[in-house]
Amino acid sequence: EAAIRIIDLAKTYAGGKQALKGVSFDVPRGQIFGLLGPNGAGKSTLINILSGMVNKTSGTAEIWGFDIDRDARNAKGSIGIVPQEIVFDPFFTPLETLENQAGLYGVPKSQRRSMELLRAVHLDDKANAYARSLSGGMKRRLLVAKAMVHSPPVLVLDEPTAGVDVELRQQLWAYVRELNRGGVTVVLTTHYLEEAEELCDRIAIINHGQLIANEPTRKLVGMA
Ligand code: ADP
Ligand code: ADP
Repeated sequence: EAAIRIIDLAKTYAGGKQALKGVSFDVPRGQIFGLLGPNGAGKSTLINILSGMVNKTSGTAEIWGFDIDRDARNAKGSIGIVPQEIVFDPFFTPLETLENQAGLYGVPKSQRRSMELLRAVHLDDKANAYARSLSGGMKRRLLVAKAMVHSPPVLVLDEPTAGVDVELRQQLWAYVRELNRGGVTVVLTTHYLEEAEELCDRIAIINHGQLIANEPTRKLVGMA
């Protein structure tokens, strides 16, 4: 069974923009899967449909076998999203941020592992600092930890390294690989071919709302 199954997914925004024109693909379990395409291709729209932030116009999507319409609650519980833009309440600490998120997802106190997650992204020494005092890189790492609070089997990162310096990019890649080695299926969107090549087992290319390729990375790179 696929980690994510998307069939004929389409989105036309109010105003008429066709951001997705009938996209179908499977993300195999256990892989790092790259959704590659230029700005405006429809990548964020697709991610936002999976996270429930945008309503699709037609088609179906399943996350870990759960239909995002019929079984929205389980679908949502099976995915963690690292959004492109950084949004935190500046007056919460990283530890509070993770505890609040755990509360939102109904993770029982006994099953919470906020400090462990902070250690994993090297933020344990900042557990009690205000979010507003963190650097941009620290905030991005906190976003990754926040997405993993409910231990979802699938982690989706929307343009994780856009506008990020080389050092932080390497750090984020290392976390992604580590999570994947631990069994998490990873989907990331990017407009850097180099990033997809470096990290991903498989790459789907989307352009103007349509899927134009979906291949194992080795095969795709061989074709270029
Ligand atoms: P729904 O997802 O429920 O169909 P929309 O996303 O279509 O709602 O409505 C939000 C509105 O915000 C759009 O009609 C559009 O005018 C505006 N908007 C937000 N982001 C963008 C964008 N990237 N490009 C163009 N318009 C945008
Ligand atoms: P990408 O993430 O690949 O850059 P997006 O999914 O953000 O692409 O955008 C796909 C297309 O849909 C673009 O033309 C964008 O301007 C448009 N778009 C995105 N969000 C909205 C919105 N809320 N309302 C109207 N148009 C939008």
